Parts: sequence; structure tokens; C-alpha cells
Amino acid sequence: MDIQRIRQDFPILDRTVYGKPLVYLDNGATTQKPRMVVEAITDEYYSVNANVHRGVHYLSQQATELHEGSRETVRRYINARSTSEIIFTRGTTEGINLLVASFGQEFMQEGDEVIISVMEHHSNIVPWQLLQARKGIKIKVVPMNDKGELLLDEYEKLFTERTKIVSIMQVSNVLGTINPIKEMIATAHKHGVPFMVDAAQSIPHMKVDVQDLDADFIVFSAHKVYGPTGIGVVYGKEEWLDRLPPYQGGGEMIKQVSFEKTTFADLPFKFEAGTPDYIGTTAFAKALDYVKGIGIENIAAHEHFLLEYATEQMKEIPGMRIFGEAANKGGVISFLVGDIHHFDMGTLLDRLGIAVRTGHHCAQPLMQRLGVEGTIRASFGMYNTREEVDTLVAGIKRVSQMF
Ligand code: PMP
Repeated sequence: MDIQRIRQDFPILDRTVYGKPLVYLDNGATTQKPRMVVEAITDEYYSVNANVHRGVHYLSQQATELHEGSRETVRRYINARSTSEIIFTRGTTEGINLLVASFGQEFMQEGDEVIISVMEHHSNIVPWQLLQARKGIKIKVVPMNDKGELLLDEYEKLFTERTKIVSIMQVSNVLGTINPIKEMIATAHKHGVPFMVDAAQSIPHMKVDVQDLDADFIVFSAHKVYGPTGIGVVYGKEEWLDRLPPYQGGGEMIKQVSFEKTTFADLPFKFEAGTPDYIGTTAFAKALDYVKGIGIENIAAHEHFLLEYATEQMKEIPGMRIFGEAANKGGVISFLVGDIHHFDMGTLLDRLGIAVRTGHHCAQPLMQRLGVEGTIRASFGMYNTREEVDTLVAGIKRVSQMF
């Protein structure tokens, strides 16, 4: 993998911040965009733009072909059986809300249970709590050990006759833990329970094959995998999606409307009310093609190298606490140094041109489990370099010495 060559595709990486070269280590929040993704957006607005699915005219048909072609690109990328199983959304958050609302309405009654985990992002906690307030469901939580690994024995013990679904992240945005999701899905299926995977942090960093995992649902966001903001995907097995009621009503999602009776469109359109972000889906397909061109295995190997290289050096820093030491871990390092507040460390690193995230990372229950209010998080992408890790480590040392 030629990192310098890759970096040339990302114009933003050349900029400076406070006169220092930008070191962008906030890829867990969002990734930067390669030139072809940005250009796909302007190209389509300048030369194709027309609303999709509805028009007989040339531009509308061309826009529809691009949009539906992107659905096929996503299908291939995650190895779904059919494009009927690919629903475009605004992002992971909307995808989870869609599934919780629809699945909850059809399949969950008062006293029924969902299993989530202690390390979930708020977007996989709060929608279930909203359902809890509406329907009186119960939320059960898989605990973890101090390394940040889910306890599989405890997980299995949580299943009861009332368990209706499991919803767990594949990779933690805070700890970097890569959860053994395939094994956890098999356990759920043994109990006759479907499994929803929050793949927001796995899709950008590892191969995700929905058939190999046997996942019933997966959700992810384009912007975390070098694509545009405002686009996400819900994958669902066709047999499940067929049984779920629509999430939102409106144009595009119907077959026939009358005041007496309305029938719904076939999959995937049943779940796509209103004009979709067809420009965004084209750009997203470009991002997936770009990642494919470089090879997700190459990206994973590079990020793993950065993780190990950074961890080794950071551990030498006096007072360093790293949160998340799972045996199987992705390119995310959450840390605190001594009693330096995460916000102070983040702000001072920023002055050195280093972009990291600070705070609770939308995982406050996990922060409670870790006994901290927040952490600093460095998260790697395909374009980060060994030299940037050196800059980070030197920056942390410099800030530590100031305190
Ligand atoms: N789940 C995880 C694990 C995440 O890291 C994020 C984004 N930080 C989300 C869900 C929410 O994604 P989005 O904001 O794109 O909807």
C-alpha cells in the first residue's frame, strides 16, 4: 500500500492547522473524502441531476441508473443476496431507529426483551429506550471484562423465552474491541432470535460479509468509510424485511394509494419514503469502489500496524492509561494521562495540529463502566502514517510535561 500515493487523493490532508501540518486522527467520528467522491457529487449536480424513479425523461432515467447502480455496488460490497435487501438511509442512527421502530411495532410486546451490550453507542441504546417507554420492553446488557471484551458466557445466560432480538456493535468506537459477532449471531440463532449488527465502525476497517456472518440486519454510515455525509445503509434478510412494516410513509414507498386502502411498494422501496439522496448514493458507491481498489485487507493490515506501533510507544509515557486492550482490536486508542483532563489534552494537541476526539464518545454507559467521565481518542484511517503516530506521541509527551 503506497500511503503517500493515497494521501494525494485526499486534498484536505495537505492543509495546516495553527500553522502546523494537519494530523487527522478522528477517523472514528468521520473520515476524509478522496477527490473522486467529492467530484462525483459536483459532476452529478452539473450534468445529470433529476429526481429518480419517477421520470420518463432522459436525465431522470440516467439518475435512476446511477442510484440503483450504487445499490448494486453496496450489495456486492457486503455480499448481500439481492438489492432488495439494501435500504438507503441517512446513516447508522436512522437505520437503527428504522429497525427498532419497525421490528418493535411488529414483533415486541410488553415484557419482551432485547439484548444489547455495555459498550454500545447511544444510537443503539436510546432508540430501544424510546421503545421501552412506548411498549414496556426490557433491555438486557451484556457485560465486559476489564480489557474491554464482552463476556460470552454472560451473554448466553441473558436469553429467555422473551428475548426477541439482539443488537450489538461489531467494533467499539471507544475501545476498538472487535467483538466475535459471528459466534454471537450463531448463539442468538440457536435460541431462535435474530441479530442486528451495528457495523458503523467495522465496515471501514474490515471485510464484512453478511452471508458469512449470517447477520439478520446490519447498519452502517457512508461517511465513516470515505463516503459522503447523510447516507447510510440498512441491510436486512429479505424474509425479515418482508415481514416488517414501513417506517415512514410518503411518496416512493407505495404501490397504490386511496383514502380507503393503501398498499406498499416492494422491497427495498417500502422503507424509502420520499426523494432519496441519489447524489449521495452515487458518491458513496465511488467511495466503496475506492476502498475496494486499495483492498480492505491491506487497509486493515496498515491500521493494525499503526495501532501496535502507537500502543507500544504510548505505553512508555508516564501516567498513561489505555482503555481497551482486547486481544482482537481495531485502530482506535482511547486514553488518559495522569489526572490531565481529556478536554485539556485534546485542546493542546489541537494546537499542535493533531485532531483527536475527547469526551464520552456517545457511550456514557461505557464511561460509567470504565469509571471515567471521558477519554481522548485517536482513531486511524487508511491514510495515516507512522510519522503521524510519532507526532501524536511527541505531542502527548509535550502536553504531559506542561502539567
Ligand atoms: N454506532 C457506532 C459504533 C458509531 O461509532 C457511530 C458514530 N460515531 C454511530 C453508531 C452513529 O453513526 P451516525 O452518526 O453516522 O448515524
